[in-house]
Amino acid sequence: MKYIVILGDGMSDRPLRKLNGKTPLEVAKKPNMDFIARNGRCGLLKTLSEDMPLGSDIANLRVLGYDPRRYYTGGRGPLEAMSMGIQLRKDDIALRCNLITEENGILKDYSGGHISTEEAIELINLVEERFGTREIKFHPGVGYRHILVLRSSRYSTAIRCNPPHDIMGKKIADNLIKPLNESGRETSRLLNKLILRSKPILESHPVNLRRKKKGKLIANMLWFWGAGKRLELPRFKERFGLNGALISAVNLLRGIAVYLGLDVIDVPGATGYLDTNYEGKAEMAMEALETRDFVYIHVEAPDEAGHEGDVNKKIKAIEDLDKRLIGKILNSLRGEELTIAVLPDHATPIEVRTHTTDPVPFAIYSTERKGDSVESYSERSAELGSYGIKEGTEFMNLLLGG
Ligand SMILES: [Zn+2]
Repeated sequence: MKYIVILGDGMSDRPLRKLNGKTPLEVAKKPNMDFIARNGRCGLLKTLSEDMPLGSDIANLRVLGYDPRRYYTGGRGPLEAMSMGIQLRKDDIALRCNLITEENGILKDYSGGHISTEEAIELINLVEERFGTREIKFHPGVGYRHILVLRSSRYSTAIRCNPPHDIMGKKIADNLIKPLNESGRETSRLLNKLILRSKPILESHPVNLRRKKKGKLIANMLWFWGAGKRLELPRFKERFGLNGALISAVNLLRGIAVYLGLDVIDVPGATGYLDTNYEGKAEMAMEALETRDFVYIHVEAPDEAGHEGDVNKKIKAIEDLDKRLIGKILNSLRGEELTIAVLPDHATPIEVRTHTTDPVPFAIYSTERKGDSVESYSERSAELGSYGIKEGTEFMNLLLGG
């Protein structure tokens, strides 16, 4: 038996007036998702909860059968670090380090004007040269996304950081890092010092002088968030007895895969956006299944459309995922024994433009099991499915037929 999970990030939504009270999933043409729902069984899955951050890392951990209340260490830093091949020791703290645009005391852009990787590497190398020590190490990543590792027992994750995309247009001074208790005091002092001291150094760098001349936003400040320590996760193979692989353009997901011992499959042209290589992902998934039992395919595009509040883009992302990825997989596996599931990790409703705790619709079709009476795949139809409402961490057991 081959197991395939297709995860459309942020795909589910709420009824929209401009869609005559329907959701993007209800409006989109998606015959292949509907095939899975019609021939399989449906239900709703609780993947996010108010007591934890509403992040894709938490939601995907639950879908993969790992309870974040037990295994999550506080932020995305260690997941992204792992995906970049950065080895963390047990007590190291990894943080996401953005290059941002500061203007007149305001956080103007979380991405430093979408600075290029080549430009960013020069800037991160400069701050490493100026601020790096045996305890403080900067690691350049892709675009505006980088990693800072703190290696000393003096530092702590008891700090509150604001994700920069959540505080655009707000004052830097009001949003600096704050200690949650006494143990976080020294860490927040250090990080705030790095943030404030980075500005004059970055601002006068030739990379930014060139950007300014061309009328582009400059990447003139560091910003830290997502602090956490190395995760200690039991391996997927030991947990479920399956050899598996994961396909995603997003470092957060790739980091989870590395922790779980799932092979990370690279797909040329996978962008994490609407122009991603859907066919390539399908082909690589089929290839991965020749030597493995399980493949998890993550597609970021619907979530990006949700954050942009663009309903047409969201419908297009769902239709592309359905036709160009799921359709291709179902066609090439015709006649074989398989279990295939489709679901989002969480909702990113167009009207709120961020992640919510709404339970998400899921459908599982298996060639060896009977279906229920649900005829199509959507938020409302899945609610009537025979699985009912389930906790996110139960999904893997349902997939495996338990
Ligand atoms: Zn997500």
